[in-house]
Amino acid sequence: MESVIDRMRVAPGDRVRLGSIATDDTFGWEKKAALRDLEKIKARLDLLQHRMFAEDRRSVLLVLQAMDAAGKDGTIRSILSGLNPAGVSVAPFGVPGGPEAEHDYLWRVHAQAPSKGRIVVFNRSHYEDVLVVRVKALAPKRVWARRYEHIREFEDLLSDEGTTVVKCFLHVSKEVQRERLQERIDDPEKRWKFRHGDLDDRALWPAYTRAYAEALSLTSTPHAPWYVVPADRNWVRNVAVARILLHHLERLDPQLPDPEEGIEGLVVE
Ligand code: ADP
Repeated sequence: MESVIDRMRVAPGDRVRLGSIATDDTFGWEKKAALRDLEKIKARLDLLQHRMFAEDRRSVLLVLQAMDAAGKDGTIRSILSGLNPAGVSVAPFGVPGGPEAEHDYLWRVHAQAPSKGRIVVFNRSHYEDVLVVRVKALAPKRVWARRYEHIREFEDLLSDEGTTVVKCFLHVSKEVQRERLQERIDDPEKRWKFRHGDLDDRALWPAYTRAYAEALSLTSTPHAPWYVVPADRNWVRNVAVARILLHHLERLDPQLPDPEEGIEGLVVE
């Protein structure tokens, strides 16, 4: 399994070419067996998260970024559903408003970073500040071009202070995005998710692809690696992200605190 995770990981300094990375890879997995594995992975995630919570020293930040309809929400629901809500939370990042817009772009992000013992999932993140901001020219190049360095330093800081930073780009094809957006339009249960702006963003697909490729290339570091996760099939995407998260929690190897002396063997009357 290591090798699949290695395949998805962007090595520091690599120049990512998204066009040559498959969006429909299955890694040779068979759906039924993979979904059975997913349950085991989730049980293991739950155990390790419980230990990390008890250890109360370190934390995990999982960043999810993707084009529209790649399945950030579905991934979150799938991989976090078995975990103890006390130790896990999700932080979504939309268009900055109010005090967010009055501060530097990392201000609101740092405030949502996980506290000790917790897992936080970012649904979008500070990467929007080198993605949408770049593609839609919401800031001049001289402003966003310096952000890659800020981001590397910021994530180094988090890592030095005990937060494992893991970043997944859910890699979907333009055709599958088309199908999913169409489904959102056609299915009344999903229609609320659709915005006219989704079509504007879709028209900017090549510019977003370039911006993503550059962001992944410039900010995948040993302490905060990017993974490119094939996202055309929901089940592959979910299993892959769960495995990546588990890999990092296993490496963390959180330890239960020592109990008070003299507890073992006590009998409660
Ligand atoms: P999602 O599409 O993730 O389900 P929303 O529909 O609320 O959630 O979309 C969030 C929107 O906020 C996206 O269009 C995204 O590009 C935008 N956004 C997030 N961060 C920023 C930012 N820093 N600057 C401008 N727009 C941003």
